[in-house]
Amino acid sequence: DLAVVSSPWTLGPLTLRNRVVMGSMHTGLEVHDDGGAGMAAFYRERAAGGAALIVTGGIAVSDEARGGPDFAVFGVGGADERFRAAVEAVHEEGGAVLAQLFHAGRYALVNGMVDRHGQPQRAVAPSALPWSAARGVVPEELTGAEVERTIEDFAAAARSARDIGFDGVEIMASEGYLINQFQSPLTNLRDDEWGGSPARRRRFAVAVVAAVRAAVPGLAVTIRLSGADLMPGSTTDDEVDALVHELLPLGLDGISVGIGWHETRTPTVQAAVPHGAWLSYANRIAGVVRASSHPEVRVIASNRMTDLRDGEAVLTDGLVDAVALARPFLADPALVERSLAGAYDLVNTCIGCNQACLDRSIVGAPVSCLVNPRAGRELAFPLRPTVAPKRVEVVGGGPAGLAAAVDAARRGHVVTLWEASDRLGGQFDLAAMVPGKEDYAATVRAARAELDARGATVHLGRAATPADLVGADAVVVAAGVVPRRIDVPGSSLPHVVSYEQALREGVPAGTVAIIGGGGIGVDTAAFLVESPDEATRATEFGLRWEVDVSGEIVGDVPQRLPVADRVLRPGSQVTVLRRSGKFGTGIGITSRWVAVGRLRDAGVRMVGGVQEYLRIEPGVLWIRDEDGVERAVPADTVVVCAGQERAVDLDGTDPEGLLAGLAAAGVPFEVVGGARDARSVDAVRATSEALEAVRRL
Ligand code: SF4
Repeated sequence: DLAVVSSPWTLGPLTLRNRVVMGSMHTGLEVHDDGGAGMAAFYRERAAGGAALIVTGGIAVSDEARGGPDFAVFGVGGADERFRAAVEAVHEEGGAVLAQLFHAGRYALVNGMVDRHGQPQRAVAPSALPWSAARGVVPEELTGAEVERTIEDFAAAARSARDIGFDGVEIMASEGYLINQFQSPLTNLRDDEWGGSPARRRRFAVAVVAAVRAAVPGLAVTIRLSGADLMPGSTTDDEVDALVHELLPLGLDGISVGIGWHETRTPTVQAAVPHGAWLSYANRIAGVVRASSHPEVRVIASNRMTDLRDGEAVLTDGLVDAVALARPFLADPALVERSLAGAYDLVNTCIGCNQACLDRSIVGAPVSCLVNPRAGRELAFPLRPTVAPKRVEVVGGGPAGLAAAVDAARRGHVVTLWEASDRLGGQFDLAAMVPGKEDYAATVRAARAELDARGATVHLGRAATPADLVGADAVVVAAGVVPRRIDVPGSSLPHVVSYEQALREGVPAGTVAIIGGGGIGVDTAAFLVESPDEATRATEFGLRWEVDVSGEIVGDVPQRLPVADRVLRPGSQVTVLRRSGKFGTGIGITSRWVAVGRLRDAGVRMVGGVQEYLRIEPGVLWIRDEDGVERAVPADTVVVCAGQERAVDLDGTDPEGLLAGLAAAGVPFEVVGGARDARSVDAVRATSEALEAVRRL
């Protein structure tokens, strides 16, 4: 039923096997000193998994174009050799690959960086204006001659890409990078030929495209254009359309439509952003192209799409030619192949958490994926089947246990998974109750489907005992965490519940006090005040951010607690309390401000600096506030979100305990995730530890 998605198409000189593009992602693999082996393995797996066209992470067109120290520049430090390996890998798997030509402009984080001559790295921009996260870096304004040289840098990089064997180039002009900066009145205050009027601000983009087109006449040339900057006072729709009209006669083969700048205050890529929210912008630009004298130019839509059935709807009903997905290819390299085969249950869906990808990328750390810890580490963890299958027992069916079981099963081990509750998923099963996090259930669905397909045994509602595990070649203990209880007078009253109870069973109407304002407290508050219906949230999102949200795409994950069973209340009835630290601590840097901001928008009360939780009475939680004053917090229900504890004993002092039993029986085991360290429980660490443990077998 993916008739359009699966149909071949042409992009300039290229014929592509389907309509799915793997969008550009900065991984850091570009600068690994491994001759390109890691990058080649990463791209090979995605091409083999069906991506018709891959766009590389941004490749800086000069030293000063780099966004940080882990950006590659053609011709520097073995970059060409690495990219040649990657290109060959993609071609061997039947895919095509574009080099993304990148210039960070004022987004370059050059602190401590040096150029190839050992000199401190410059940051440059149309005007000397730092951005909001500039860490003290004020870019230098490019001189007129430097602007001309930068245009030639793009052309030279395109020639390098051609010489290396790339099928084409994508010019990065979106997301607030240099070309976008030239276009916007917010970042271009020049009054020379490159600024001062909308037409002159567009000249840089036009000049770059013309120069690149002329440099590589036989290659595909596309541009990643900003469909909307989502920055107050920035480029208008009319100006975007005017740029499209100026670019089309230049011989461009395609336009990929991006959205928002990195500094925009409108959420664009977080889980809370409705699926497909930005597709209307791509359709709008496609309409401009179709009505022009160059209707043949391809338009590619992207952002917040995770399911190719949604892609099919977009391609069928809209005007675009192809869809680009990026993070979903981290989560599941084979998502195209699996979807085209109709095996949607097996697709490991990107949950939009950003925890192992964007949150790491922006600090220069290696990029991976929470739900696919192999991502970016394909060489270290090859998928080769084992030649010596072992009996692997996994205790715990949460994110870490599922990651361990799936990896072991994929490589041909004989796997048994034990889950004490009657549901798989652990913390993900709970997270899926939170509005905007429904996709967490997809991770569980995909893991279960894969375990079933590979013949693994899954025991639900059955806690493993040492006797069950005797004889195993290896046991991975991923028993996870349980909510920590609090010792406050009144905490055993019936209206005091754990976050697990609240999320599973719902919370009756009335006021709620949440003890603990970390990530779980914030999520629990969202559960209490936000609609579980994505279409409703999409409408609210569009109104709140004054954007044109498609609202037609709702993902593939059913609601678990029926919508009708959820009691919603005004935000003013909910109080989130915490002793110290920021609200939402534990949520990644790219998502925390969104998660906390939506609670503030809803009117949820946030009370920090609580000195003491004094006592709980029916209807009231008494606290000592930051001024030492005793205060009553309305609380028909108190939800405790005070962290977690390990679900198994680990010190072996309990002779009945699982670990003590395993040790006594001489069964080799490893403990991973929250069961190993519940104090700093971190889902990325948990799934990564699970993978590493199962690979040590
Ligand atoms: Fe998606 Fe999260 Fe994986 Fe990033 S880390 S690709 S957002 S699932």
